[in-house]
This record gives sequence, C-alpha cells and structure tokens, in this order.
Amino acid sequence: MPCTSVKVKIPTGWICNGNEVEKVVVFRSDMTFNVHIRGREIDLESNYIAGTYCLTCEGIKEVLEQVNCIQLCQGITIKKHNYIPHSNIQQELLTKQGDENINHNIVRSKLCKQFAILNNRQIPNCTTCQRLTIKYPENTPKPSVVDTLRNLVPTASDATLTFLASQVNNAQNKCSNQNRWDSTTINECLQLFTRSPEGYKSLRKSEVLLLPSPSLLLLYKNSIQQSPGFHENIFRWMYEEANRMDIPTEGRIGGILLDEMTIQEKIEIVRQGDSLSMIGFVDLGVESQAVDSLKSGTCTKN
Ligand SMILES: [Zn+2]
Repeated sequence: MPCTSVKVKIPTGWICNGNEVEKVVVFRSDMTFNVHIRGREIDLESNYIAGTYCLTCEGIKEVLEQVNCIQLCQGITIKKHNYIPHSNIQQELLTKQGDENINHNIVRSKLCKQFAILNNRQIPNCTTCQRLTIKYPENTPKPSVVDTLRNLVPTASDATLTFLASQVNNAQNKCSNQNRWDSTTINECLQLFTRSPEGYKSLRKSEVLLLPSPSLLLLYKNSIQQSPGFHENIFRWMYEEANRMDIPTEGRIGGILLDEMTIQEKIEIVRQGDSLSMIGFVDLGVESQAVDSLKSGTCTKN
C-alpha cells in the first residue's frame, strides 16, 4: 500500500495534566499539510501559514519552523480553585518542561482553538478562551462572634452571649478608644456604676473584664435632660425597662418613691447654649406648683 501521508511530532515543551503536548504535522502526498494540537486541527490561515509545502529539505524545514512558531493557548490562569464550574470549561494543570515545580492551574474552553494569536496579552490564549468568564462564588459572610459563641454554648442567654462577644471583639483592639459597646452592655454597666461607682471602677481597673469607661457611662446617663418635675423621657425609659425585664401588666402598678437626698445650698450661673440661667433656687417643677395651687386655692400666673 503506497504511503499517502507522513506524520511528524514536534514537542512543545509543555505538559498538560501529566501528558506532553505535541504539535502533530501531517504531510500529505498532495503537497499539503495540516497541524493538530491535542487532537484539534489548527487553523493555519489564522497563523499566516499557507498549508502547502515543497518536498525538499528546505521546504520541510520551512514548514517545521512555521509550525514551531504557533503559540499554544494557555487558557486562563485561575487564582482560586473554588470557581463555579461550567459545562463549557475544563480545568487543567499546565507545566513547562524543565520548570516542573511551577504548576499553572488554568481553565480553558472545551472549544479551545489550542493556538493563540500573537497579541499583547501576558498569557497567550485563543479567542474562544478569551471570551470565557470565570465566576467565583460570592464570599459567604463570616459568622458573627455572637453566632460562633452560640454554637459553642447553646444554653447561654442572649445577654450573656452579647456581653461575651463585646469582650472578644474589644480584646482585639490595640487601643481602648477603639472599643465599641452594645446597648445591653452599656445598660448593665450603667446600672452597676450608679449603684456603686467605686466598685465599678475597681472592677474595671482589675482588667478581669473589659468595661466602658465611667465618663462614657455618664455621657449616656446625662443624655436625658435632668430638671425638676416629671419628664416624659423618664416615663418612656421606665416603660422600656419594664418591657425589657418582661414585667407583666399587673406588675406595673405601683408608686414612685423618692429617697431623701442632701443638696448643698448653692446658686450657680449656668450657660446653656447662648443663654445664661441661674440654678439653685427651690424648684419642684410645674406639677408641684399645680398641686400647691390646688391646696391653697390660689392661682398664680407664670
Ligand atoms: Zn484556548
């Protein structure tokens, strides 16, 4: 049987998934040739190669030089392995011979043309691979410290977990100015501080627990304007406290007791914004004046 074609294999110097990649040139008796890389026929015209040859030493050598210049498509390098797989793409491990320690994790289109047209890209790849879009799964949000602690101690109450989370989060801060406190911790610390400022300061100083500074607590405490008489804000606070402590409706009936206190006699001039006012006079608030008027039967205009 007469020989109709001659196959020549040219090594490329690349190893793909452990297999050497070769350019296979098939010289046919009709003085034409074609090139295959990894089983796919290469479009010679796109590589400016005529596809015909002269059966001379120079002719064959010229073909082999031209084929040698065909650049391999090296797909798209993936940085992460957790890309979202797609039916059109396949993952490969590319290694350059002589540089086996460096593996390139790449993906390429299943319709990859196997050759790359010369361009300015750092990594040569074919026009089909260039059009690939690699999608990565969106970063799943890190579980909060409270959730992590809840997994560790499922029986702990929400208040305990919130407080422990504040300790964990703030312990990582280099400077105490960076500490942040949630409303539960502020609330509990404020109660502790108002009952015993010295005890609170001592506990804070011991560094057994990370606690908000007394000045911060005072800032919260003074956020409600304090002046003689009844205040809507105070009643709202009492209502919210009762809700927070789950006090039933029947448990909310009672009276307000004012413990005795000693006030030093002193009149001061206080600046509030642009206005000056004198404080220190006996002032029991509007309600007290109204009760006095009812008792004495007199009416005074304010
Ligand atoms: Zn390709």
